[in-house]
Amino acid sequence: MNTEMTTDNLYRYLFENASVRGELVQLKNSYQEVISAHEYPLAIQKLLGELMAATSLLTATLKFSGDISVQLQGDGPVSLAVINGNNLQQLRGVSRWNGDISDGASLKQMFGKGYMVITLTPDDGERYQGVVALDKDTLAECLEDYFEQSEQLPTKIKLFADTKQAAGMFLQVLPTDGNHNGDFEHLSVLTETVKQEELFTLQAEEVLHRLYHEEEVRLFEPVEITFKCTCSKERSAQAIRTVSKDEVDAIIAEQGKVEMGCEYCNNKYTFDSIDVEAIYANAASSEVTQ
Ligand SMILES: [Zn+2]
Repeated sequence: MNTEMTTDNLYRYLFENASVRGELVQLKNSYQEVISAHEYPLAIQKLLGELMAATSLLTATLKFSGDISVQLQGDGPVSLAVINGNNLQQLRGVSRWNGDISDGASLKQMFGKGYMVITLTPDDGERYQGVVALDKDTLAECLEDYFEQSEQLPTKIKLFADTKQAAGMFLQVLPTDGNHNGDFEHLSVLTETVKQEELFTLQAEEVLHRLYHEEEVRLFEPVEITFKCTCSKERSAQAIRTVSKDEVDAIIAEQGKVEMGCEYCNNKYTFDSIDVEAIYANAASSEVTQ
């Protein structure tokens, strides 16, 4: 076979004869862009892959345009892992850690006492935040917990990542119809059998056919997933503004410039003394006008 499989797509599907919806995501290039920003230990690369797949699946459940962030934090050697996304399936992410992380490190070994914080920020409307403990063996189980608590809908999640690819599946009872939990359990058992290799090597249609060949599945057009960072010189200027001018002047005096790096994409934004004067002059004038 010499046809390259299509990746970086999110697929939604419905079962014609059951009140259940599904999603399938396959990531490659966007995942590589996220993990190429730093020399991440193997276990963190895979974690970010699973977290990207999870965030993409969650993003597809949004009923609004806006942003989503799925953030893992704890008191262990990995203090943070976060993926930010939006309804256009543009994702970015970063992790912070200290010391050696073994290749097979578990969630507990990485985060210690950890939490998952899911923040939904609509462009118009109120922000919603949900928190669940990272007290299960896998990220998928922690997310199932989140859905259990926030939406009270039976949900099945599968997540996979190696250092090259990441993938995931999502299955959930449709909120309009609560009388078909038997259907969900049957479909959930079928979904549970999906293998990493299948999601990494087969087209979505083929995966769904293998899993649900006795069901009628309606597969929708996929949405492309891209890596996109939202950093900018203007946002970096805003960050500088939160530091006292004396401190920034001291850096300018010593180094001739202030450099702000974006930890998501490694872009660097440089400000010289004229830029810095302008930043604080703008800050002062906007305070006066308020
Ligand atoms: Zn950036």
